[in-house]
Amino acid sequence: TREVAMGSHATLPPHAVVIPYPSQGHIHPMLQLAKLLHYRGFHITFVNTEFNHQRLVHSRGAVSVRGLDGFRFETIPDGLPPPERDGTQDIAALCASTMKHSLVPFRDLVTRLNAAPGVPPVTYIVADGAMSFTINAAEELGIPELLFFTLSACGVMGYLSYKDLVDRGYVPFKDESCLTNGYLETAIDWIPGMKGIRLKDLPCFLRTTDPDDIMLNANMKQAEDAKRAKGIILNTFEVLETDVLDAIRDRHPNLYTIGPLSPLCRQVPEMLASIQSSLWKEDTECLRWLDGQKEASVLYVNFGSIAVMSSANFMEFAWGIANSKQPFLWVVRPDLVMGGEGVLPEEFVEETRGRGLLASWCSQEQVLAHPATGCFLTHCGWNSTLEAVYEGVPLLCWPFWAEQTTNCRYACTAWGNGMEIGRDVRREEVEVLVREMISGEGTGKEAKRRAAEWKEKAAKAIAPGGSSHHHFERLVNDLSLINM
Ligand code: UDP
Repeated sequence: TREVAMGSHATLPPHAVVIPYPSQGHIHPMLQLAKLLHYRGFHITFVNTEFNHQRLVHSRGAVSVRGLDGFRFETIPDGLPPPERDGTQDIAALCASTMKHSLVPFRDLVTRLNAAPGVPPVTYIVADGAMSFTINAAEELGIPELLFFTLSACGVMGYLSYKDLVDRGYVPFKDESCLTNGYLETAIDWIPGMKGIRLKDLPCFLRTTDPDDIMLNANMKQAEDAKRAKGIILNTFEVLETDVLDAIRDRHPNLYTIGPLSPLCRQVPEMLASIQSSLWKEDTECLRWLDGQKEASVLYVNFGSIAVMSSANFMEFAWGIANSKQPFLWVVRPDLVMGGEGVLPEEFVEETRGRGLLASWCSQEQVLAHPATGCFLTHCGWNSTLEAVYEGVPLLCWPFWAEQTTNCRYACTAWGNGMEIGRDVRREEVEVLVREMISGEGTGKEAKRRAAEWKEKAAKAIAPGGSSHHHFERLVNDLSLINM
């Protein structure tokens, strides 16, 4: 570990305690940031829940969580009983439970770290925006805290607007009919930086009739807590979300836009890079199979770590993909289909023999970087969206929940690198859109052109002289100062 000059602690490196929200899409970028900080001389304590720690040990082997000199893993309980099925935990329950049960163990952990012999004193807490309750521990212990919202800026702005939406009477909904009577089409023209947004594009936790809804209130609480943080980190880059970033800066002037993080992480030494965060075992066959496919010919399908769908939706996707006659790599997570019915019929297997590969989890960044990948059918999780932006892969969007609807809206309008598949999936639509995206001359071609443009801009942002590069240097610098 390189040492950083720090006044009276001149021989000790700064020590950042990094705590993600306990789901894959949060652990992934938080771990990337932690690795980059370690590379720049920080002592890191990375805090997982006990449940996810066990999953990491199981999926990657103990080596992934053993850590390195100056990069240690610790655990705290999430307060939930173990789930009945393997895989994803209930996000709302997890959110409520961590808010209630994880603060005291977290505070005790930081206190313990501060007293531990041979461990540098904790100089900063870098918490996930969805773990903003940690700010209470930070204030009690007199340690500064930054919040990393691992979302798009447009998604964050959506959440920051929840309170205004409640105050103005849009939310909670009067009754269930609001979901079907056209109410969701309502134009919301007053959110700064979000021109042309409709109620249905905003993060979906506002679709409730219950004023006490857990996710609605948790997100409002996080927005409130964020005001107490020393600054906010976002995994995005300036030119991608200029207007929204300006609007967020009006509320949170100290904003670090440091994305896309994943390519930056490819520069760290092998030992550090070997600390990985996949909660599922990766299938390595995918990459070999892609090697045998033509350039930009393959449809890559992956709905991330949380999305689930009905078996009817699943079958419509399956036949749409089959009927498009395009080669495809489809990652079907074991718990993707509700009730565990994610089994494809023999006819599908027959029909697509020789041109399709099914897997249960893959190294997505490598798949997106592969020259054979031509289009990404995605749920528009922010990591997936940004990874595709960086690799210049156009998107077919089927947002599932949270701020994925917002990301989809931006991809299909402002960014122009995406096309949307209707909520109520139909095989005919899937077939037509897949063909258009892979080989079409109209919207598909234009989406590809825009995707290629964003790829260039993303690369520029993280290169020396680029905006993300600048913000990352500023972040390292600010985190290295002792404010205690
Ligand atoms: N991911 C992966 N392999 C898979 C599916 C997903 O490595 O088969 C990674 C993906 O690269 C991304 C993260 O898991 O970094 C998923 O995060 P995202 O925000 O896209 O969606 P979420 O899972 O949170 O819904």
